[in-house]
Amino acid sequence: MRLSTAWILATGLLVQGAYAQPPASEQKNIADNPSWTAPQKPFRVYGSTWYVGPHGLTVLLVTAPTGDVLIDGGVPGDAALIEANIRDLGIDLRDIKWILNSHAHFDHAGGLAQLAHDTGAQVIASAADAVLLERGGHADPEYGDRFPFSPLQVSRTVTDGESLHLGDLVLTAHSTPGHTKGNTTWTWKSCDGKRCLHMVDVGSLSAPGYRLIGNPKYPDIVKDFEYSFAMVAALPCDIVLNPHPAAVNLWARVARREKGDADALVDPAGCRAYVKAARASFEAQLAKQRAGGGSEK
Ligand SMILES: [Zn+2]
Repeated sequence: MRLSTAWILATGLLVQGAYAQPPASEQKNIADNPSWTAPQKPFRVYGSTWYVGPHGLTVLLVTAPTGDVLIDGGVPGDAALIEANIRDLGIDLRDIKWILNSHAHFDHAGGLAQLAHDTGAQVIASAADAVLLERGGHADPEYGDRFPFSPLQVSRTVTDGESLHLGDLVLTAHSTPGHTKGNTTWTWKSCDGKRCLHMVDVGSLSAPGYRLIGNPKYPDIVKDFEYSFAMVAALPCDIVLNPHPAAVNLWARVARREKGDADALVDPAGCRAYVKAARASFEAQLAKQRAGGGSEK
């Protein structure tokens, strides 16, 4: 089976296997995961939180009377699809005040430069990933220059635990390093009437092909992943989301809801379940690298 690089990145398939440099033909074909550009009708996740991304990459819009917030921007080229989805919801692009980023990889930051231009919104990211956004993904500690995207200006950086206030809307940045050094989990509350739920967009916790032992560009990578697993598992969490919807079974949950299970997206154990799966993959990858002397890459 031919595996696209994009698919490997999305699934972390190589977590238990030796790292392999993708062939040049695949490097050119980085957006060849069709779901990453596939149309998806926008829909309400819960309350003021909307899914506006392509089918295979989560892009969220959180609305508030004082302005809206967009989280992530898909691959390069997804901006038009995302903007059309936002307009379909009857929302003016200029109402978007902030654009947040889960992490500075091309499949979540690729459309951000265009989206920032078209909305006039400020881009807000962690300091560690802001530098990667500003250099368009070049010199990524794991991927080098293989997955570039349009560089963008970050207006403001956030620190671990910092909350952003837009009227009554409060979004909090939780540092969950490992997948990138500035990988961020965003949390906020969305309400349907008087029922308010903890929304958690967990930053990716996969290490697809990463060198975990003796990595000169990221010596603390194992410690950081372990910190992030513990941090996410402890978060108040009613609806778990992830930059890759399949990683948290979003589509199965949406299908159940469409069949009448009104609370199919609500799962207070959802964050812990995602952490459990991610941790198991990570530990298997780490054990394999330890057994092999850590010289996979
Ligand atoms: Zn990533």
